[in-house]
Amino acid sequence: MKTEVAVIEGTDNDRKLIERAGSILKQGGLVAFPTETVYGLGGDALNRESSRKIYEAKGRPSDNPLIVHIADMEMLGAIADDVPEAAKTLASKYWPGPLTMILKKSAKVPYETTGGLETVAVRMPAHPAALSLIRAAGGYVAAPSANTSGKPSPTMARFVKEDMDGRIDMILDGGMVGIGLESTIVDLTENIPMILRPGYITKEMLEDTLKMQVSLDRSILQGNSIQAPRAPGMKYRHYAPKGALTIIAGEEKKVAALINERSEEMRKRGEKVGVIGTEQTTALYRADSVKSAGNRNDEETVARELYRILREFDEEEVTVIYSEAFEETGFGQAIMNRLLKAAGHHIEYIE
Ligand code: AMP
Ligand code: MG
Repeated sequence: MKTEVAVIEGTDNDRKLIERAGSILKQGGLVAFPTETVYGLGGDALNRESSRKIYEAKGRPSDNPLIVHIADMEMLGAIADDVPEAAKTLASKYWPGPLTMILKKSAKVPYETTGGLETVAVRMPAHPAALSLIRAAGGYVAAPSANTSGKPSPTMARFVKEDMDGRIDMILDGGMVGIGLESTIVDLTENIPMILRPGYITKEMLEDTLKMQVSLDRSILQGNSIQAPRAPGMKYRHYAPKGALTIIAGEEKKVAALINERSEEMRKRGEKVGVIGTEQTTALYRADSVKSAGNRNDEETVARELYRILREFDEEEVTVIYSEAFEETGFGQAIMNRLLKAAGHHIEYIE
């Protein structure tokens, strides 16, 4: 299959491109597209054959459900049954935006899309091209992140191409995404809402809006938890670069000293070493490739750069990676969640 790459330029031509992409989806094809979180790999959510193709293109286990993307609130009732008040409140506050809600699925949604579950994950993305595409496709687009299963989610079209070239019909290139980490997932099928995956919309924000307590799936922060995560996808090795990643947490100067010591040792053994630092610290490191994940005091910059850096280390064939740790408050919880998973939970604390 030849994969067409079409650049969204903000001109009149975009409409034609998106129309064409929409008809590919309607005919059961696959189109990758930008959202505000990461690039998605879209297929018609109500067509079981399309969902099968998504799993195949990603090499994704078929028990790992897909998120259904909608563009208008009126579309929700057709795919979700018994939508609770809390879901409506959250939708009116955070949609379109980086929040996915788990709801009871309607008969219309095939089990291929929900990984066999009775629930469906729904999101309304905020990216204008994504919204136009969903409408052009008939209203329901199943879209996991547009990466090969297990790899970091793509934040730029060139990373989508790397993984999906020859496997899907089209890639819409909308430049670099805004947020850089996947949506927050909140389960609203039980009495107490539960966060299954942290993201830009934090626990505090949800609690503030709902005026009630929101719980957090315990397996999110504990790599060694015996409890299986409630979002099936969270149990898989994820977001992982090819190099072996270790996080070093502690006071800035001590972290730099330890990373440099390890780096020197590894390089003597013939490893190619990469370091993830920040604007504040990159000058302190000695390694083959030192990258800044942005400003330590501005989590949004770090979230946006993280997957690009992991992907670039792959391109540079870095074999060993060290990263600084980040604060686990607010949006930082999502950053550390992804970083810990990318590291297979290898973290060392310097007291
Ligand atoms: P991705 O598409 O890569 O953003 O992954 C989607 C995430 O949503 C995975 O971690 C899935 O396990 C999770 N997910 C999708 N549908 C459901 C559902 N019905 N219940 C729980 N988690 C879900
Ligand atoms: Mg993913």
